[in-house]
Amino acid sequence: MPATFQAIGTLPEATFFCSGGNFQSHSTPIAMRVSRLMLVTLRDVPADAEIASQQLLIRGGYIRRVGSGIYAYLPLMWRVLQRVMRVVREEMNQIGALETLLPQLQPAELWEKSGRWQGYTAGEGIMFHLEDRQERSLGLGPTHEEVITELASDLLKSYRQLPVTLYQIQSKFRDEIRPRFGLMRGREFIMKDAYSFHGDEADLASMYAEMERAYTRVFQRCGLTAVGVDADSGAIGGAASQEFMVTADAGEDLILISPDGDYAANQEKAVSIAPPALPLPGGESQVISTPGQITIDALCSAQSLDPSQVTKVLLLLAKLESGDEQPVLVCLRGDQELNEVKLVNALTQQLDSPVLDLNPINAEQLKSQGLQPLPFGSIGPDLSDDHLTGARSWRNTFYKLADTTAAELDRFVCGANTRDEHRWGCNWSDLGAIPAMDLRNARAGDHCVHRPDQRLEERRGIEVGHIFQLGRKYSQSMGAQITTKEGKQEHLWMGCYGIGISRLAQAAVEQHHDDAGMIWPLSIAPFQVIVVVANVQDEVQMALGEEIYNELRASGIDVLLDDRGERAGVKFKDADLIGIPWRVVVGRAAAEGNVELVQRSERDANVLSRAEAISSLLEAIPTELRVQL
Ligand code: ATP
Ligand code: MG
Repeated sequence: MPATFQAIGTLPEATFFCSGGNFQSHSTPIAMRVSRLMLVTLRDVPADAEIASQQLLIRGGYIRRVGSGIYAYLPLMWRVLQRVMRVVREEMNQIGALETLLPQLQPAELWEKSGRWQGYTAGEGIMFHLEDRQERSLGLGPTHEEVITELASDLLKSYRQLPVTLYQIQSKFRDEIRPRFGLMRGREFIMKDAYSFHGDEADLASMYAEMERAYTRVFQRCGLTAVGVDADSGAIGGAASQEFMVTADAGEDLILISPDGDYAANQEKAVSIAPPALPLPGGESQVISTPGQITIDALCSAQSLDPSQVTKVLLLLAKLESGDEQPVLVCLRGDQELNEVKLVNALTQQLDSPVLDLNPINAEQLKSQGLQPLPFGSIGPDLSDDHLTGARSWRNTFYKLADTTAAELDRFVCGANTRDEHRWGCNWSDLGAIPAMDLRNARAGDHCVHRPDQRLEERRGIEVGHIFQLGRKYSQSMGAQITTKEGKQEHLWMGCYGIGISRLAQAAVEQHHDDAGMIWPLSIAPFQVIVVVANVQDEVQMALGEEIYNELRASGIDVLLDDRGERAGVKFKDADLIGIPWRVVVGRAAAEGNVELVQRSERDANVLSRAEAISSLLEAIPTELRVQL
């Protein structure tokens, strides 16, 4: 290879590769040059990009939107994803999980067998589904419990084969109601999903704990601050479930954490001690006139009440998988909010059919059911079922539930079931008791259950992983059994474990960026070092840039060479934007054999000799991270 180049990008490619010698250390593979990277960066924030990480990934030429919730991963992004996948694979292999690849096109029969076809395709179901030319229904995999359980029931016959854990990394498809924030909530996205099979519950619990540790390592190795939080385990009940949340203001989830760090939960699941209610002053029970006071705020300010002295009533319609439409009446203390996830779980369990949809009942719906209007704003817990007589398709009794904080009130104010009237000084023995359970949202400031002297704090989180003890739900519905040591037939115990690979990569940017651009953690950066040649027309600069590039590559470091004929300022801006952790600037000082070394996260430049720069980089980039893609 000649020692100096001019306008290197214009040399015929053959010149590079036929010049003999050691290809690895003496030539620059074309793909590692910015001039050949198809890199298009944008100065302006794309109009439809809402959060910083999404804006930066688009501006930095990492991703391009192809359709709603559908993105192309451009070469820089693909390198990041490959690095994330590498970490995930290492940690999965480490705990003995076997990599596999399951079909994305899944026959409806499998989902009918588990009982999930209807829920995933009807109503707000998120499975893309289609019919083939033989009119057979198929779904595009949003998740793989059905496929894997079918395989397990076919392949696993004896306790001797257990435990076994399989994982795969592939694109998942979900017709999300609100795809948004770029890769955060896509309709096609990359997930690692794993499934484990066990002979008993204790063995499942031990794999679950192992996964939890592996997940913690994955997120740590990817440079993310992630918290494990108690998560909703749906209506299956009992089974443990944990989500891993990358804390960031742009997170869609609300998480509640105790200051001592011993409790952390998704708000969907979180429990707390509610503040005590203010006692309602004594006096005769009476009906009070409350014209126009149809909200808790209006009622409380007009009647000088504290919201905790009021029992409010919500009317909702639950659409069940069985096809039934169940009117639901929920009582809450006036200062508390309904937790819909808790309510859906309670209803699913008690009504013996999954809830597909839960929405407030409004005047229009009553009309279309042929029912009389209801005095919304003045409804009380004892609203009579007579109001539902003659409903066209709804069940004709209310399913009534109360949140514990409402059920614990001794005397309270509530609606009188007549427009513009409330009742003052009610109690449950007069109104009729309603089954009580925890149906409210825990909130920041509430006292913690595990330590009442601590108060919950809130943070926003991005769910990057979810581990789940499924128990025997799928093995039972799909008939996956093994023969035990004692010769009995028993259903398998199962766990499932997901990581949103593409979401994780974007979450890393959400956690690590500044005004100038992304700041990739070294372990998942598309390249570890970028060598920016300030003036590519300058032979000395270009030659020194090439040499440093080659030397770093020879040490196993992934390096990008900015060989574009752009102004230096443009190249520096792009380097900041694309966020490569280390930058070597080869400029005028090249004449003295010196370069500038800049760490992206610090942005302060050190002038060093070429040898010093290289040895600093070798020190900063540990051997285990020197993996070339
Ligand atoms: P969410 O509550 O955010 O909709 P989920 O609980 O439905 O997610 P899981 O079924 O637990 O998701 O999937 C495992 C992981 O896949 C999630 O922890 C998340 O990181 C990722 N993931 C889920 N949905 C999406 C999506 N639409 N786009 C990108 N990643 C996703
Ligand atoms: Mg989840």
